[in-house]
Amino acid sequence: MSLAGTIGVVTAAALLLFLAERKVPLRTQRAPWIRELAINLTLSVMAFGVSAALVRPAVFRAMGWSQGHELGLIHLIRLPPLVRGFLVFLLLDLTFYYWHRLNHRWPALWRFHNVHHCDPDLGVSTSFRFHFGEVALSTIFRVVQVTAIGASLPAYAVYEAAFQLNTLFHHSNTRIPIRLERWLNRLLVTPRMHGIHHSQVREETNSNYSVVLPWWDWLHRTLRLNVPQSRIVTGVPGYAGPEDNRLGALLAMPFRKQRDYWMARSGETVQRQPETLGADLHRLEE
Ligand SMILES: [Zn+2]
Repeated sequence: MSLAGTIGVVTAAALLLFLAERKVPLRTQRAPWIRELAINLTLSVMAFGVSAALVRPAVFRAMGWSQGHELGLIHLIRLPPLVRGFLVFLLLDLTFYYWHRLNHRWPALWRFHNVHHCDPDLGVSTSFRFHFGEVALSTIFRVVQVTAIGASLPAYAVYEAAFQLNTLFHHSNTRIPIRLERWLNRLLVTPRMHGIHHSQVREETNSNYSVVLPWWDWLHRTLRLNVPQSRIVTGVPGYAGPEDNRLGALLAMPFRKQRDYWMARSGETVQRQPETLGADLHRLEE
């Protein structure tokens, strides 16, 4: 799909989810939504700019080159085109799981990813609220990813569409009937599952890294579904002050001396009372 087409579809999906989360919100909004939207949109436009100028051309060039040389894992065995496409989809999603996990693990990457996580109100506008530095750094990963896998353009395009649309969906603050979401969550990362990933409790943020398919968390034992949404405070405790969520502060954040991320202003770390959790770690709580 052309760049204009992609932007059109993503914008339409974002608008629909934005209306849905106003109508049936999942978690209570803390900051005024209009202010939140202005900050997140500005950061998203900058992220998209870097993506269009840097990531996209680099990925396309890497794909063209690796296809021309038949490089990458997928060329090791002869497979029917559909099976090959399906495998590429799985491998792209799995490697994104690793990249996301690395963004939490490596302090140099987390400095940037923290800008995404310290949003006090998780919603569809958080989806592409990334520091442009995080997007620029991801170019290296993306080039290695598509070359190592040997992704073809059609398979990559299908995955990219699923990636963008599910990123909007799982960040949205839309309340879906729990039975329907439990069913959907067998196939997709859903709003309640990803809401836990944005919790101020450290162990909860360090779980549920998957982007499209939720199976990777299950396979790597990082799946955590038993936290009720009413108990979740979203954000990063060390960066939860209103002055932290201003455009200038967010842009400068990765380059400043870092505070203790998990210590609130009160000097306490945010803990979870075990009795508020559901009994089964792998059963999505309301
Ligand atoms: Zn994250």
